[in-house]
Amino acid sequence: MMDDLIRLMKFSDLALGPDLQKALVAVGYHTPTPIQEQCIPKVLAGRDLLGCAQTGTGKTAAFTLPIVELMLRNPRPAGERAIRALVLTPTRELAIQIEENLTEYTRYVPITHAVIYGGVKQQKQVRAIDRGIDFLVATPGRLLDLVNQRLLDLTELEFFVLDEADRMLDMGFIHDVKRVLRIIPRKRQSLFFSATMPQNIVELSNEILTDPLQVQVTPASSTVDIIDQAVYFVSKKDKRKLLLHVLEDPEVESALVFSRTKHGANKIAKILADNRISAEAIHGNKSQNHRQRVLQSFKDRKTRVLVATDIAARGIDVEDLSHVINFDLPNVPETYVHRIGRTGRAGASGIALSFCDMEERPFLRDIKKLIDRDIPAVGEHPYVDDSRESASAASAPAASGRSGNSNGGGNRGGRNRGGGGGGNSNRGNRNRSRNRNRRSSGE
Ligand code: AMP
Repeated sequence: MMDDLIRLMKFSDLALGPDLQKALVAVGYHTPTPIQEQCIPKVLAGRDLLGCAQTGTGKTAAFTLPIVELMLRNPRPAGERAIRALVLTPTRELAIQIEENLTEYTRYVPITHAVIYGGVKQQKQVRAIDRGIDFLVATPGRLLDLVNQRLLDLTELEFFVLDEADRMLDMGFIHDVKRVLRIIPRKRQSLFFSATMPQNIVELSNEILTDPLQVQVTPASSTVDIIDQAVYFVSKKDKRKLLLHVLEDPEVESALVFSRTKHGANKIAKILADNRISAEAIHGNKSQNHRQRVLQSFKDRKTRVLVATDIAARGIDVEDLSHVINFDLPNVPETYVHRIGRTGRAGASGIALSFCDMEERPFLRDIKKLIDRDIPAVGEHPYVDDSRESASAASAPAASGRSGNSNGGGNRGGRNRGGGGGGNSNRGNRNRSRNRNRRSSGE
């Protein structure tokens, strides 16, 4: 009951103007997500913010809405054309999605925006900026490129958002971020978001933020809890057959399949296509136009299965994705949380299935430790690896469908969320394994 009362918070309680609220109704948001409840008032109060939240929690609206509201409250003088807000984000896909969200949120207000990213010609982006925009969403490389060409002026910036800071550093953008910091005004309001907070991220946030308020939506309580998870113990050689078997289930309407390497992603997509399952691979080698086309076809449900590497999948935001399938288990446990967070968006439930061979058992153990719960094994399937962990297999659900989902995962597998789940104790290990992953990610 108490929970119900708490959940009844509305966007109108968050001091957003009527035109913004109208846009949220139009886009189908009824209640703010926890990160939005926490962030919006703090940003409206003019404070810097350190947000620990991953994509999928509704964080884009959590930072864009209050910034737009503040811009509306303090309109810039007539004729003034400087960019007022910058969102720096690591990938093109994420940048595009943030701008798409901005388009929806600013439908009824006079706030203009543009997105810039590399890998495509710059003219169109430059023309968009030249029209005079309030809000710019950018990846670091193209941003600095345009600044160097004196096509972009950030000297009047009022709001700076660093999104997915941990990804930014993982992808080697630290120097670019620091360069951006040198060209934007010191006096500004800054928001900093990261899914994880290892020491190097904390240090970077200290350079960017002034006396920040903190908000945290941990994956354990936001995303992982509402996703139905199961593991298939299978030998490496049988994984492809197992995937075809899982995809025989019509309940797997729309699946994002993760492969550790680009080569693997291509192979999986080909095998699926050979078996008349509409599938496409998306990874860093493909052109930006190709990636956008593939993504759109998946969003439109014309492609049933999208096979992706971790880097290519960053920021993919697909409504109603029914299944995430880990064809390969990641050796960085947080990557698992990022991956399965692609389903179960904004309160919707989803299913995450993982294929685990003998070599991946240690990865599975790390993942269970991070999310602080067991992941039940599917006991009955045609390719069961005989050496599977029999203890876990006993609690197997019918995992290829949505069954057992209604209790939000319930206590299946003896989940225990006590003591803040995951905690800090793994941090050193996680950082070490993240470095390992960078070397072996294949991109
Ligand atoms: P994000 O974490 O910003 O990528 O958001 C994840 C997804 O949740 C996006 O598809 C958003 O459109 C959606 N979303 C964000 N906030 C809400 C909300 N309050 N109600 C419903 N959906 C939302």
